[in-house]
Amino acid sequence: MTSDIQRIVVIGGGQAGGHACKALRSEGFQGQLMVVADEPHDFYERPPLSKGVITAEEPLPKLFPEDSLAALDIHWHRPRRATHIHRDANQVELDDGTRLDYDRLLIATGSRPRLPVDEWANIGNVMTLRSWTDACRLKECLAIGRRIGIIGGGWIGLEVASSARKLGIEVDVFERAPALCGRSVGSEVAEAIRELHQHHGVGLELERQDIQLNEEQDGRVTILADGRAHEPYDLVVVGTGVAINLELARDAGIKTDLGIVIDAAGHTSDPTIFAAGDVAQHPHLGLCLQSWAYAQNQARVVADAMLGKEAHYDEPAWLWSDQHGVNIQILGVPTGETHCVIRRESSGSVFFYLDHDNRLVQMVAFDQPRAIKLGKRWLEAERVLDPEALADPDFNLMQLR
Ligand code: NAP
Repeated sequence: MTSDIQRIVVIGGGQAGGHACKALRSEGFQGQLMVVADEPHDFYERPPLSKGVITAEEPLPKLFPEDSLAALDIHWHRPRRATHIHRDANQVELDDGTRLDYDRLLIATGSRPRLPVDEWANIGNVMTLRSWTDACRLKECLAIGRRIGIIGGGWIGLEVASSARKLGIEVDVFERAPALCGRSVGSEVAEAIRELHQHHGVGLELERQDIQLNEEQDGRVTILADGRAHEPYDLVVVGTGVAINLELARDAGIKTDLGIVIDAAGHTSDPTIFAAGDVAQHPHLGLCLQSWAYAQNQARVVADAMLGKEAHYDEPAWLWSDQHGVNIQILGVPTGETHCVIRRESSGSVFFYLDHDNRLVQMVAFDQPRAIKLGKRWLEAERVLDPEALADPDFNLMQLR
């Protein structure tokens, strides 16, 4: 580690910020570690917010136990927002005017929910889900609501739909695309997810292009979808994607595209500034992955690079979701390289998307986590696979280890 690094500032108190701090300390950084976070809480995990936190009494899902966090010896600035990066002075300015000096800076500012219509923010019973505070509010609403509407059939929408059904609440999901989760999975998988939700009583309104909300006098909300009025709902949850929190980097003249442009070690266009998590555009895929695994593992790699060590992030994309008691794992991203799709049915469904040479492009497994572990190896090794064997439920995939 180079000795000129005495002060590190991390902007962002989420998954990426937390794992970067942990890795910085475990890699031997002993200088001052400052974290700017806009929430008052310790680092926490977001996946439980749409699941156990709203269906059960789960507490704040802290990323690290109390003693491990204390050992990181973090100088917190929270709840505070970084308002400006003064690259000429190597300083970050906060919303109270404080300026923090840095030798290395990590931008891990994440993303925020995006509303299709700004005015929806003024309707009392319309909400998005991103933070612990949002989840607490959602939980309170679900405790008294009987019927909710969800705008957006992506991961947030479907996980909330599943949790609400678990609580016995009526749910309708409104999605503008013809398929659910259409950006992350192919039509075969989208269809399986649709069946799963219909089987559990979720109302699905697909291909609803024009969605408007009307606040009734009693506070409930009517959803107008392509001119047709639905219910009034006690609550409407909007999960229509995110806006990447890019402004700080962009205003500071750091190179951005969909996210902050980084290399495989997390370097931005400024040699003293790094980026991790949602805000950091994937170095090979050219998109912002917004997944739990990326936020965690890429941030760890970046921490190494910040300390001047050799570092390289090259994991395949991986995300998981739990819906109606089914664990869905997705490895890889959909690309135009897919030549054929194989569906395997053996105590759970697995979908293999193969290219012209029968190598894996993407794989999606329902309640088959071991198959995904194998898939990771196949992807890394660019292994050529036998479509017939993959489809045969009597063929043991473990033979292809
Ligand atoms: P998302 O997964 O991108 O899904 C948003 C969905 O809303 C898309 O299907 C989108 O369709 C649709 N949509 C967009 N505008 C719409 C409109 N005006 N009316 C109706 N539908 C509309 O985003 P999200 O569910 O909001 O989740 C936010 C982020 O958190 C995402 O990055 C997600 O990956 C992440 N997340 C991940 C997990 C997990 O990994 N298990 C769980 C929760 C959240 P189009 O594709 O046509 O735009």
